[in-house]
Amino acid sequence: MKPLKFYLKKAQKQGWAIGQFNFSTIEVFEAIMEAAKKSKSPVILGTSEGEANFFGMEQAIFLRDYYRKKFNIPVFLNLDHGSNLSYIKKAVESGYDAIHFDGSKLPIKKNIELLKKIRRIVNSKAILEGELGTIGGNSGLRKNLPKMGKLTEISAVKDFVKQSKIDSLAVSVGTIHGIYPNEPGIDFERLKKIRQKTNAFLVLHAGSGVAENDIKKAINSGIVKININSELRLIWRKGLEKAFKNNLEEFKPYSCLADVKKNIEKKVEEKIKIFNSKNKFTLPNF
Ligand SMILES: [Zn+2]
Repeated sequence: MKPLKFYLKKAQKQGWAIGQFNFSTIEVFEAIMEAAKKSKSPVILGTSEGEANFFGMEQAIFLRDYYRKKFNIPVFLNLDHGSNLSYIKKAVESGYDAIHFDGSKLPIKKNIELLKKIRRIVNSKAILEGELGTIGGNSGLRKNLPKMGKLTEISAVKDFVKQSKIDSLAVSVGTIHGIYPNEPGIDFERLKKIRQKTNAFLVLHAGSGVAENDIKKAINSGIVKININSELRLIWRKGLEKAFKNNLEEFKPYSCLADVKKNIEKKVEEKIKIFNSKNKFTLPNF
């Protein structure tokens, strides 16, 4: 199977984006797999340190490999917002395809220093994603906008990518983790200028809640990977609430979770369509 880098390069060349969908439970994992299979789309499964701790890294790797064979799809695993070096090391050794190191709150010099260290750990075994600028917010449905993070400084991009030897760059261009009623919107001019400064694969975090047109515009401006988490979590919660509301006596997990799974699958399919990653590999030789 072709590595993740192949698909990121292809996306960059052809102007589409690979979705990263986070999970921490099996029904969400399977829903993402079903959607990817149906859409014939490469897909990245994301786990934060918390999600990986809950699900288990080895279990995630085992299932990734199982679904690669079972469904014949290019599916990859990314450690999302990694911050702990020994945890990152464990993810690389376990066989994760990509590592995102979130050093965004550190001074740039320290961020670069740690990324260089992680590059040596990761070597060429996985894609390394760094972050410049702070994205801010927290996954979830929220009423009030949090304090905005610091947007990615265009003038710092070139040196940051070169010195840290990263493959991918998470940019802060106006999205915030979580879903808010009045999101400030994406600074497309900034994004285009960042793209002019680097060939690194540009990553849009906090893709949940961003309007379809803005996502398409972001892809046209150079984004090749988009992270989605809050929207799936919200479907999960609403699905369970509804199941219990409909039948307070319900206690069969497979009944409560049936709609959750179906609706997450639908949402992932919808995102894949917007990202235009549909039909981007040909069976069986992807
Ligand atoms: Zn993120």
